[in-house]
Amino acid sequence: MRFRKLRILGFKSFVEPIEFVIEPGLTGVVGPNGCGKSNLVEALRWVMGENSYKNMRASGMDDVIFSGSGHRPARNSAEVTLFLGNEDRRAPAAFNDADMLEVSRRIERAAGSVYRINGREVRARDVQLLFADASTGARSPAMVRQGQIGELIAAKPTARRMILEEAAGISGLHSRRNEAEIR
Ligand code: ATP
Ligand code: MG
Repeated sequence: MRFRKLRILGFKSFVEPIEFVIEPGLTGVVGPNGCGKSNLVEALRWVMGENSYKNMRASGMDDVIFSGSGHRPARNSAEVTLFLGNEDRRAPAAFNDADMLEVSRRIERAAGSVYRINGREVRARDVQLLFADASTGARSPAMVRQGQIGELIAAKPTARRMILEEAAGISGLHSRRNEAEIR
């Protein structure tokens, strides 16, 4: 599966709807300080199921909703949709007929998040597993945050092992096993 496009509405500084097309090859995002480069990457992590608001540099999940500026009022909801090309047919069985997967997450103030895949409401867990199986996701080593290399060097062996498991593509399996054991 390949990232094709990110649609953002009302998320952090993106008050106007934007569509960010991800072409094959290397994509660079450049711009002055505070223009929203990190917010863009956070939108990507958020739609993939990030559930720690601290990892979104926020003091509550509602903080990801556009909070208003000098001349624009705050919004009451935010929505991010990630379009994934499924030509290689690696999507979960329930959605594998489609050429394109639309994974979306929407948050309303004080009402929490709703996730959808191709319009069908799913659990946060379904979205997290989809990306874990594709060896990517909100916490995946494919996403390298500022300061993360330093953390990695100082990490305990168990934390480093998690990164290796993610790279080996088995973290989705572990996650399912833990869920099965809890039940
Ligand atoms: P740098 O080059 O310094 O890393 P950047 O391009 O990564 O900058 P971001 O950190 O993505 O910039 O964007 C910061 C901007 O986003 C700030 O102006 C901040 O006010 C704005 N912002 C963050 N959250 C919200 C929100 N909920 N509502 C409105 N604006 C927000
Ligand atoms: Mg930044």
